[in-house]
Amino acid sequence: VLEVRGLAKSFGDNQVLRSVDLSVQRGQVLAIIGPSGSGKTTALRCLNGLEVADGGVITVGDDLTLDFASGPSKRQLAALRDRSAMVFQHYNLFPHKTVLENIMEGPVVVQRRKPAEVRAEAEALLARVGLADKRDAFPFELSGGQQQRVGIVRALALRPEVLLFDEPTSALDPELVGDVLGLMKELALEGWTMVVVTHELQFAREVAHEVAFVDGGTIVERGAPEQVLRNPTHERTQQFLRRLL
Ligand code: ATP
Repeated sequence: VLEVRGLAKSFGDNQVLRSVDLSVQRGQVLAIIGPSGSGKTTALRCLNGLEVADGGVITVGDDLTLDFASGPSKRQLAALRDRSAMVFQHYNLFPHKTVLENIMEGPVVVQRRKPAEVRAEAEALLARVGLADKRDAFPFELSGGQQQRVGIVRALALRPEVLLFDEPTSALDPELVGDVLGLMKELALEGWTMVVVTHELQFAREVAHEVAFVDGGTIVERGAPEQVLRNPTHERTQQFLRRLL
């Protein structure tokens, strides 16, 4: 459902992504690990169209292919955004909107779906994550774990083909991490297609179908979690994992 070939991105002289290739089958979870500054966040932002890549090809779903060498059209970029949804490290909720308004904004304003239908779906999703009673609360009234669950509901409400998670638990207090990882695991079991940038190796081992190790703006090694996390073949992967363990 997601296919990326030769993705490249520079900021000025800084070539952050060199040539990233990846593919994710429908219903599969890809975990991306790697050192700070290796380009993980930039790669996800390119997949969501929040950054426009300088080169490479992204295909999402059966009929949307963006070629960044020739420059995709505005309409293609909008379609890319619509098919993927991002869950951010720092939640990125609108501070002056309620929980329900945060969730409804994208589906109603961008996707032009019927507000009544979106509201019903949003309320059902909130109930599912145990936040039905927080519908009219503002983000500052919620804990980090609750805000991130709202961030996940907001992404689900967009009905994307692919869910993108950018270190979704790294800003949370340790006791709140489990809740969010538990919800992500449920979504994986339900068959959502997910790309997860994470430092949670245990989660990667348990939930991901594939793990990719990124360093220096390229995927150095990828494969089954057991293989990459327990028996990495590349020296750089070995070094990175040694430092984490
Ligand atoms: P971390 O784990 O610390 O989040 P990362 O692997 O996600 O790191 P990126 O956030 O993708 O790495 O950043 C990679 C490089 O790109 C860094 O050198 C960063 O300074 C640079 N960079 C990222 N975004 C921008 C931007 N908007 N403008 C200029 N440079 C940027």
